[in-house]
Amino acid sequence: MGSLIQIKHNKIYDADSKIINYLNPDFIYIPYEKGFNLNIKTKEKVLKDSILLIKDNKYIYSPISGNVLGATKMIINKQIGPCIVIENDFKETNNKIISAKKSIYDYQKDEVNKLIKEYNAFNKNLDGNTILINGIDLEIYEGTYKSIINKYSSEILEIIDAINDIFKCHKCILAIKNNDSEIIEKLVYQIGTYPNIELKLMPDLYPLGHKDILIEELNLLKNNYKIIYLTIEDVLAIYNVLRRKKPITEKIITISGNAIEKAKIMNVKIGTSLKDILNNNIKIINDNYKIIINGLLSGYEVESKDFIITKNIKSIFINTLDQEGAKECINCGLCHRKCPVGCDVRNNFKLEKCLNCGICTYICPSKINFKDRTVK
Ligand code: SF4
Ligand code: SF4
Repeated sequence: MGSLIQIKHNKIYDADSKIINYLNPDFIYIPYEKGFNLNIKTKEKVLKDSILLIKDNKYIYSPISGNVLGATKMIINKQIGPCIVIENDFKETNNKIISAKKSIYDYQKDEVNKLIKEYNAFNKNLDGNTILINGIDLEIYEGTYKSIINKYSSEILEIIDAINDIFKCHKCILAIKNNDSEIIEKLVYQIGTYPNIELKLMPDLYPLGHKDILIEELNLLKNNYKIIYLTIEDVLAIYNVLRRKKPITEKIITISGNAIEKAKIMNVKIGTSLKDILNNNIKIINDNYKIIINGLLSGYEVESKDFIITKNIKSIFINTLDQEGAKECINCGLCHRKCPVGCDVRNNFKLEKCLNCGICTYICPSKINFKDRTVK
């Protein structure tokens, strides 16, 4: 592996770790995923947390109560695709949730995996003997994981300890950055109750928050550990599923950029449009902007605010358009030397090795943009 790099910090991109709720958009747009069957009809009333789409044992739930208006096209991740449109009645009416009665420590492995799937927490099966929890936001200006730990530290430690117990793991690591003093203080204060959880303080280097890099830096490959890898978001989702029997219909994201007045960490409903979020919560200070999804270094640009929040959105940056164009390559070799997996993005580039970290574009003194080549 190549060297990890320190990213120059600019305070204007930083958000307070306080999470601001925006849970009442006028409309919600739920992507119609291939292979799923519709469980609703146009003009039908839906309850919050009712099932909209079904495929085998997988369900997609309504984040709001309201009326099904029909279908439209929106930007889903990098592509335009069909979505079900639900008009909010702002009543948040739902079927009564049967709260989980038993202690979370009493669940069996199969039950945990069944509930994770059933309540649409995330798309992986837990199995292994070593737990690695990634509490490091991938990019320097993403504050999503940090804010989750800050707000839900006791819930997170409790559920990590329970998973460790249920899966009978021999090692359980929670990795965070060594300069996040606010969350270090909170975790250190509480972690004494959970002797099985090992808190690892990692240097503030990029891209340490990437799964493969973190596993390598922690030396977890050498020992043939079978790793259960979870992000802090996954842990919070498991908490909601086991403790509250709550389908995952909300998403915590970072909204930042140099074309907005103030960066924020927001909790929004999955299916909210970016247009709604910006119009109701964010003051744009420069109309000449571009929209970058999931990180200034490793993210991708979208052309329109008709972009919807899905489960894999971590951050949105609203940044002024670059004035300076790319210059000629001066053959300094930095793009190759600094690539964490040793790719030479200029020659014989192997896309399958690339982590999409964006270091080659960030580091290039000639401002050559390799994103077209690297982003999958
Ligand atoms: S984006 Fe890919 S090629 Fe560029 S530095 Fe990262 S891993 Fe290397
Ligand atoms: S970092 Fe930029 S200027 Fe340097 S070798 Fe790579 S492409 Fe050329």
